[in-house]
Amino acid sequence: MSAADRAGAVLTIDLAALAANYRLLAGMAPGAECGAAVKADAYGIGMAEAAPALAAAGCRHFFVALIDEGLALRPILPEAEIYVLNGPLAGTENDFTAHRLVPVLNSLGQLELWQRHAGKRGGSRAVLHIDTGMNRLGLPAAEVDRLAAAPERYLNGISLDYVMSHLASADTPGSAQNADQLAAFASARTKLPNAKASFANSSGIFLGSAYHFDLVRPGAALYGVSPTDRSHANPMRPVVSLQGRILQVRDVDSPMTVGYGAAYAVRERGKLATISVGYADGFLRTLGNRGHVSIGGHRRPIVGRVSMDLITVDVTGVPAPLIEPGGFVDLIGATLTVDDLADAAGTIGYEILTSLGRRYHRRHVGQQPDSGRFPA
Ligand SMILES: *Cc1c(COP(=O)(O)O)cnc(C)c1O
Repeated sequence: MSAADRAGAVLTIDLAALAANYRLLAGMAPGAECGAAVKADAYGIGMAEAAPALAAAGCRHFFVALIDEGLALRPILPEAEIYVLNGPLAGTENDFTAHRLVPVLNSLGQLELWQRHAGKRGGSRAVLHIDTGMNRLGLPAAEVDRLAAAPERYLNGISLDYVMSHLASADTPGSAQNADQLAAFASARTKLPNAKASFANSSGIFLGSAYHFDLVRPGAALYGVSPTDRSHANPMRPVVSLQGRILQVRDVDSPMTVGYGAAYAVRERGKLATISVGYADGFLRTLGNRGHVSIGGHRRPIVGRVSMDLITVDVTGVPAPLIEPGGFVDLIGATLTVDDLADAAGTIGYEILTSLGRRYHRRHVGQQPDSGRFPA
């Protein structure tokens, strides 16, 4: 019996949809290069498969958060530009250089560290990150002024691929913070040596061409998360779908309760199905008594708490052939999106994706045979 046949839950990752999403975003910013954020194992879908699919779709610039993510990506994409968003820690400089990883420099401290390294090597590339209102990473305005007052002190020997900044409210197009950050970015750039610029994440691309500059850096939208207001239709294709195995179906009649803490009380005669997925799979516990599954198009509520390995679903009225033990229900699918699940769980699609469990049986479909990494 194959692993797929034994699996409790099957996660399907559509690399053709990923590539289509890349082309859609790249096409929206025709004046810019389109990179890809592949940090956190490509938002949980698997960097080893996602990065070659993105490269085959034309992507040349990849963003990771940690140096180890860059080290893992380098052998997968020997030619790509790989940028490490969290920047260099003291002692990691030679690892950056040896593997041609380009650090994002987020503070004067990181600039000094990288400049000392560049001095020993006769020059080195970097991206400079200016904070324009996120107050998380990047040079604050006061550090930009100190840099502008003595650029040679900090930048000698460093060649800047890009000056970048990051939007805090791009998913809220009406937020005044977007224009404020754009103005702050423009003002900071006038004080700095001339360099190409990078500003927009997924949602930033949808704010219009003023936000695109030379390189856009989408992540979530590539993986199917809606980049726009939830009142608009999601323009991205879904990349992940998840099916959970039906283990057991039982008839119930009141009064009975379901699962840990007796958190759900059965009021009428009906049927419950127990599904092989739980919080140990990253199926968030907050979905208990709140989320839904879809069974052949029938939307049914998760009742009771999410356990480590199991959930229970009220399947009353679903035609019997659809709820045979051994069959599957859709946990993420065409009618139940990552964003729907996130809404029910009280979180965002990003957290749903990056929580996708290691226990799922993972299938990659839609790969390009000619990318050389996949069997035809
Ligand atoms: C994660 C990240 C991105 C990608 O953001 P999405 O909202 O997923 O498109 C872009 N830039 C920076 C600095 C990031 O940390």
